[in-house]
Parts: sequence; structure tokens; C-alpha cells
Amino acid sequence: MTQNTQVYINGQWRAGASEVENRNPSDVSDLIGIYAQASAAQLDEALDAAARAQKIWWAAGIQKRHDVLMAIGTELMARAEEIGRIIAREEGKPAAEGKGEVYRAGQFFTYFAAEALRNQGDLAESVRPGIEIDVRRDPVGVVAIISPWNFPVATPAWKIAPALAFGNAVVWKPANLTPASAVALTEIIARQDIPAGLFNMVLGSGRDVGQRLVESPRVQAISFTGSVPVGRGIAAAAVANMTKVQMEMGSKNPMLIMDDADLDLAVAHAAGAAFGGTGQKCTAASRLIVHEAVHDAFVEKLVVAANAFKVGHALEAGTQLGPVVSEGQLAQNLAYIDKGRAEGAELLCGGTRLERATDGYFMAPAVFAQTRNDMVINREEMFAPITCVIKAGSYGEALALANDSAFGLTAGIMTRSLSRASHFRANMNAGCVMVNLPTAGTDYHVPFGGRGASSFGPREQGRYAAEFYTSVKTAYVAAGAPE
Ligand code: NDP
Repeated sequence: MTQNTQVYINGQWRAGASEVENRNPSDVSDLIGIYAQASAAQLDEALDAAARAQKIWWAAGIQKRHDVLMAIGTELMARAEEIGRIIAREEGKPAAEGKGEVYRAGQFFTYFAAEALRNQGDLAESVRPGIEIDVRRDPVGVVAIISPWNFPVATPAWKIAPALAFGNAVVWKPANLTPASAVALTEIIARQDIPAGLFNMVLGSGRDVGQRLVESPRVQAISFTGSVPVGRGIAAAAVANMTKVQMEMGSKNPMLIMDDADLDLAVAHAAGAAFGGTGQKCTAASRLIVHEAVHDAFVEKLVVAANAFKVGHALEAGTQLGPVVSEGQLAQNLAYIDKGRAEGAELLCGGTRLERATDGYFMAPAVFAQTRNDMVINREEMFAPITCVIKAGSYGEALALANDSAFGLTAGIMTRSLSRASHFRANMNAGCVMVNLPTAGTDYHVPFGGRGASSFGPREQGRYAAEFYTSVKTAYVAAGAPE
């Protein structure tokens, strides 16, 4: 069944200026739908409507905001299976993972429903007698949200939920590769009792709609998740307007496998973190830094684990790895395989396109061994089911290799040593550090973000989200003596 859909602006579904096709990466003969692309005038209308609606929403108070967010979250959780299948069909992750993603998206809304009630400030004494000080958090205003295709419901959810919780309006540009997920989430939000224009969904290409959105002086804050080059452009546009900006971008997450690790657990965690979601996660384990004492045994088991993944149609029972998201992404992945070989890395398994019953972008998960940290495959985010093993002679050398990267999102260590784990936690330069856990997989109630080229601006998620979605106001009040 195909869908013909519209953009959502100022409380109404509208036909766009043009349309794009959305096809299933597991089966390109499956046309999911035709999706509208917002025009420049529609985007401008959305921005005007958002500015008006934001004031009404802020004045409506915290109980209203709580109730709306709770309703959105509850519906997402109740419909996780159904919407999870939409994600599986257009993004390519197995249906069970799609379901998990939608449930988690619901949890972001219910979590931030409570945060709306907990928007508390501070009281302070003044250094000048007779003056009282309070510090409160106001909304920032209109928030532009730009999200990628790899978590097409969860990523917008962890941005939209805090934006609305703290009294802001939203103009959301989803990724053009996953419009059906965007429409599903928008339909739920649009059904709520909210002011027209509070929430707008403007599908369109990043180059056109995205660029115009981030350059608009009518936007007070921009939250972006995606690639580093696009992030750099957005930061430049934000600075020109002095717009607040928050960005989560790529990484080359290292996972250290020490000589005292539980090897089977290390293999399971490394394979899961490297290949889960077809490697298309910013938290994927892409550099496996292995102590030489266990290197050969680890690599042998990892290849067995990689070859055991069942790669297939995302909606087929038993599929563990779905297709790569698009033809362009698959071509990029295969080019990285060629690049790794040309650099002298040894391809132990996978790295080829796979044929299945349907015409899709299937790829066998790949393990490169004998890699050096200075190879391109260890420097650039590949966003592919490809992982690279680097041999290290000691814990100290492994840590130094792990820290030798432009990125710093997540990092893991597999060890039974408390002192190594503690040292790693303190000395690994990353935003999230995992001990005896995969690099991927985070909770929804605590901050998420990285260092270096991985992130820019205040953290997302948990109580820390308030830093970005609010603006602090310090009030000085000299009450004077009573009459
Ligand atoms: P992009 O950074 O191009 O896309 C992310 C979002 O930004 C999309 O909604 C996109 O729109 C939008 N966008 C693109 N250009 C602009 C612009 N000039 N101004 C405003 N918004 C813009 O990533 P891709 O999806 O193309 O993926 C490319 C690579 O990025 C991947 O291979 C991966 O390495 C990395 N990536 C990292 C992610 C992460 O979570 N860390 C997530 C996704 C990608 P649209 O695509 O609809 O045109």
C-alpha cells in the first residue's frame, strides 16, 4: 500500500511544492509512498505560525504541557509495533528494532512530561541587603530540529519532547529518506490539543528546506543530528544569526578488549555494537583495539559471529541485519572496503553485496584486521557494517590509540580489572564511557553526547536538556519596607 502525504504547517496538512518517492531498501520494487516537499514560502509560514503559537503554549502552563507530552508518549508506546514496522520498511532495521525504537521514543515524551512539571529555578541571597534574587528558565522560542534517517522516530523524539516540555515551538525537518516515520510521528502530535503552528513538519531536502531553516533569523535555537560536514555548515549559519546551536555528529567509537576480558562476552558485545542497525549508528563500535595476548582468539571468534548474522529483508522473521539504507550509502560502504584493502588492511570476512529474494541493498558484515589507527578506515565515520581490529601491546597503548581520534562520542572497555576500568573511565576522552558493555545502547533519562568533532553545544537528554531548550533569567527584586 502506498501513501500520498503532505507537509504539516500551521496546524494543517498541505500539499507541497514538489514530491519525492520513498522506496523500501529491502525491496526497491516496494513503493512506500510519494511525499510532499515544503516550499520556501511554506517554511516561512511555519516559522511565523510557530512564533505566534509559542507564546500561547508557554502561557498554557505546565499541567497542559505535561498532559500533551504524556498523551504523545503513551500513544507511541501503545503503537510501537505498528510504527516500528513503518521504520523497518523504509529505513531497513529489523521490525523488532523498529518497535524498540518507537517504544523508546514514547519514553522520551513521558520522561519530559514530568520534566515540564519539574522546571524549577533557584533562589539566592543578594550581596546587597534588601534584594532578593531568583533564577528561572524561560523557553528559547522557536526551535529548528533537523534529524537523520537512522533513528527516524527516536532522534526527533528526544529533541521535540524537551522543546515542547520547556514551552518552545518546533519546526522539524526530518530526513528525506524516512518520510513515512516522520508522518507517523507528526500525526500523533497533530491530534493533540495544541495551538496551531506550535509544531510544524517541513519535509524537504537538506540543501533547500534545511539550509533555509538554519539560516532563518526567526529561529532561536537549532538542534541537529547528522554528519560532520553538514554540522559545520549549520554551525556557521547559526553563528551568523547568533542562534543557539546543539549538534550530535559522527564518531569512530573505540572498544578495548583487554587480556583479562571474558572473551565470549567481548565478542558478543563487539559484534552487536559493530553490526547492529547494519552499523548505521553514531555509537557503533568501529575500532576494536585488542590486547595482543587475546588478539588471535578474539578475531577468530569475531569472524564466526559476523558470519552468523542473518542478513535479509527487514520485515522477515529471523532477520538480524537489514539492508543498508540506500544505494548511495551502500556504494560508499563498498568504496570503504576497497579503500581499506588498498591501505593494506586484511579483510577477514564480508564486505560484499549480497543477493536475496528481493532486490535490496544487502551487505555482508565485514571485519578488517591488521589495521593501523592512521588508516582512513580508522579515521572516518563509515556508518557501515564494517569494523576494524587494531592490535595493542598493552592497556596503555590501547588507551592512547583510543584517544587518538578527532571524535569522542562513546568508548568501551572489556576487562575484569577494576583499576583498568576506573583508569579508562577517568582518562578516555569521550562523552559516554562503557565498562563491560557495548558502545551502543544508552538510557533515555541521562545526558547523551560526545566530545571533539562528535558534538557541539549543550548536551541532549535527561535533566541536562534544559540547558539548550531554555534561556536563564536572573531577576533582582528590591521589595522595600512594608507601608
Ligand atoms: P546529513 O548530515 O546529510 O543529513 C542529516 C540531516 O541534515 C538530514 O535531515 C538532511 O536532509 C539534513 N541536511 C543536509 N544538508 C543540510 C543543510 N545544508 N542544511 C540543513 N540540513 C541539512 O547525513 P546523511 O543522512 O546524508 O548521511 C551521511 C553521513 O552522515 C552518513 O554516512 C554518516 O556517516 C553520517 N550520519 C551520522 C549520523 C549520526 O547519528 N551521527 C546520522 C546520520 C548520518 P536530507 O537528507 O533530507 O536532505
